[in-house]
Amino acid sequence: MTKKILILPGDGIGPEIVAEAVKVLAALREGYGLDIEMEEALVGGAAIDAVGNPLPEETLRLARASDAVLLGAVGGPKWEPLDISVRPEKGLLGLRAGLGLFANLRPAILYPQLADASTLRPEVVSGLDILIVRELTGGIYFGQPRGIRILDDGERQGLNTLVYRESEIRRICRVAFEIAMKRGKRVCSVDKANVLECTELWRQVAVETAQAFPEIELSHMYVDNAAMQLVRRPKQFDVIVTDNMFGDILSDEASMLTGSIGMLPSASLNETGKGMYEPIHGSAPDIAGQGIANPLATILSVAMMLRYTLDQPALADRVEAAVRGVLDAGLRTPDIYSPGNQRVGTAVIGDAVARALG
Ligand code: NAD
Repeated sequence: MTKKILILPGDGIGPEIVAEAVKVLAALREGYGLDIEMEEALVGGAAIDAVGNPLPEETLRLARASDAVLLGAVGGPKWEPLDISVRPEKGLLGLRAGLGLFANLRPAILYPQLADASTLRPEVVSGLDILIVRELTGGIYFGQPRGIRILDDGERQGLNTLVYRESEIRRICRVAFEIAMKRGKRVCSVDKANVLECTELWRQVAVETAQAFPEIELSHMYVDNAAMQLVRRPKQFDVIVTDNMFGDILSDEASMLTGSIGMLPSASLNETGKGMYEPIHGSAPDIAGQGIANPLATILSVAMMLRYTLDQPALADRVEAAVRGVLDAGLRTPDIYSPGNQRVGTAVIGDAVARALG
């Protein structure tokens, strides 16, 4: 059956990098019979400018009706003066909530060709391949009560609540275990069970859920140690599963191990496997419109879409191999350029990946 893909270019470099990912999807449709239909809609600042709303109803309707969403990036200085409730980022949060995207998958992969890009020594990071599975719709970012209140003595008090139901923990652990079965079969669950009861429950439920996955080697780590281990010996990890806030912080740390923000994709999935796929970087207003943004994170997001929503793992492998081929050929956008390679623009990279698939 034809799969529907909603394309949301967004702001800044979003339209430039998404155009290259669309070339790759089109090449898969022409060359490999990938049965897809693509439609484009507005989100973020572009939607604010056009219709005054960062997530128009029509966009959410189309997102709900599609099998997968490919997003560029949202935001930029133009919209920063706006009230926080109507900023471009609200479009993203609305999509996550509206589609029930509770599982955020962030790989941190360091291509050997780019080992010099990391601030860590090449032998520590070369060949790095970690996947962080972050809970995205619960925990302290959403828990009630929350706010800033005035106490009886007149002092202000800030308040947030870390809260998880066991079903929320179980479903994210299950996602991590299922994915780990297709990788190295090792999952490290990160918590702070020595201090926070909520994460003590997290650990208990992780252990219970693992019983259905006897081949998985489950370990546990406190978040402070995990932050340290990620820079000390990152290659010890295969899949990391953790809550919303710890995952927010650790996934940024892990991505920086690779030193190349323009290379890292992400996926956010719901219970039915529907997903939103996007590069981890933002709209890069400093280079927007110059044709020099790196489209590979977005193209690799297409590979994740093929693997996790479209059930086309062989095509996902092909896209990733094509990306490696382009790097092997020495083509580099400025963000990953090093002497001895060829400095090229966004479209040259996209064309080269699409051609490598042909
Ligand atoms: P950013 O990720 O946009 O940029 C950080 C730096 O990385 C910049 O120097 C940029 O030029 C560079 N960079 C990012 N992506 C690149 C690419 N593909 N190729 C080459 N270089 C790249 O982060 P920022 O500057 O903090 O944020 C800019 C805007 O993006 C803000 O409005 C922010 O709110 C928004 N943002 C959006 C998302 C999202 O849509 N998911 C995520 C983060 C930030």
